Formats: sequence, C-alpha cells, structure tokens
Amino acid sequence: MLQLDDVHANYGSVKALRGISMKVERHSVVSLLGANGAGKSTVLKTISGLLHPRSGSISFEGERTDRLKPDRIVSRGIVMVPEARQVFPELTVYENLRLGSYSRRDRSEVVKDYDDVFDLFPILKTKTKDFAGTLSGGQQQMLAIGRGLMARPKLLLLDEPSLGLAPILVQEIFSIIRTISKRGTTILLVEQNANMALDVSDYAYVLETGEISAEGTAAEMKRNDEVRRSYLGG
Ligand code: ATP
Repeated sequence: MLQLDDVHANYGSVKALRGISMKVERHSVVSLLGANGAGKSTVLKTISGLLHPRSGSISFEGERTDRLKPDRIVSRGIVMVPEARQVFPELTVYENLRLGSYSRRDRSEVVKDYDDVFDLFPILKTKTKDFAGTLSGGQQQMLAIGRGLMARPKLLLLDEPSLGLAPILVQEIFSIIRTISKRGTTILLVEQNANMALDVSDYAYVLETGEISAEGTAAEMKRNDEVRRSYLGG
C-alpha cells in the first residue's frame, strides 16, 4: 500500500533520513522503533508531505506522493495523528472532530463516523461540548486519534500515541489501535514503547540515526538479540 524507496531528508544541514526503504502492506500494523532523534517522526512527516524528501520516492497505492502538498495527501487517504496530542484547546470536542472531516464530501457518511468514534471512545460522547483544553491528557490523545479517524483514513500514521500516559491508559490506547486495525484501517505506528508496539504489530522497522538497522515480523523482532538489548529491556 505504501512504499518508501531510498528516502533522504534533511533539516537544513542536518541529515535526518539517510536512505530509508520500507513498506506498509494494506490492513497491517507496522511499527517504527528507535531511540530519540533516530528520525521516526521525520519518516512520518515525509509520508504526510510536511517535509519533502531530498531524494528517493514515496508511493501510495501505486502512485507517487512525495511531491504532493499535505492536504492532497490527506485526500488520498493518509492521515497523521501528530505527537503530543495536538488538539485545538479552545474548540470543543465536537468542533475538533468536525475539523477532522473537513476534507470530506460524503456528508451523510461523516454523521455515521461520529458514532464510530464515540463507540471507540465513549468518554468523548459525554464531553462533546467541553473545550478540548479541559480534557485530561489521555482524553486529548483519544480526541486526537478520533479527529484523525474522522478523515476516514486508509492509512493512519500515529506518532507516539502512548507518550506521557499512565500505564492503564497506555493499555487502553493499544487496545484501541488493535480495534482500529480490525475495522480495516492500515496503521504505521511510531513508538518508544517497543514491547507493546510489537504486540499489536505485524511487522517492524528499527531506525538508528536516519537508517534502518533492523526489520522483520513482530515475532522475529522479539527474538532479535540486538533489538531485545536496545529496545525491549534485555
Ligand atoms: P523523537 O522521538 O525524539 O521525536 P525521532 O526518532 O522522531 O525522535 P526526529 O524527530 O525524526 O527523531 O529527528 C531526527 C533528527 O532530525 C534529529 O537529529 C533531530 O534533532 C533532527 N530534527 C528534527 N526536527 C528538526 C527540525 N525541525 N529542525 C532541525 N533538526 C530537526
């Protein structure tokens, strides 16, 4: 569904990605693991068009997307939920969700999708008129994911969805990721929490200083000594 071929990307003189090649198959969950600063968020930014690769190519459903603007990429079906739960604090929960559906024309379908989001996150249904800024961290993360789903993505890019959440909420977020995947959305997940990420993933890539240092099925990665030492706590 998504393919990156030898993607290089820079921030000024900083070489953030140095030849990334990876694939995400339709209906799979793929995780991108690696230390802080390895380039994980940058991979998501290049896929979503916020940063254009300096060289290499990105294709989605067989068509090049690496020169498209972010809004065109959203219309193709790729939606990113950025790090640190970026919701609009001064808009209500409902307004935040509505923004997620902004680029869609199938208005009658949009109405149904609110119900799907509330089904996944019942707490949001009780807070539709509350300002997003008054929600707890976990609820804001749910809202950020809910807003992403309102665009009805084919491919959802999740950047560190469990960051800063209490353990019980981390469990809940991962269980929701599993549900979203079962409902048919393909997911590319960036996570520090490698153990839990591998539990929900089919395939994983490890990034080190802008390069892929290991890849394999989730089961292979769990057996990989290097991956265990560096990312799974031995
Ligand atoms: P983290 O989990 O800390 O976000 P990451 O693996 O997602 O880590 P990136 O954020 O992709 O890493 O960063 C990759 C490299 O690019 C790092 O060296 C980082 O310092 C640099 N970098 C990221 N964003 C910028 C920016 N806007 N300007 C300059 N350098 C940047």
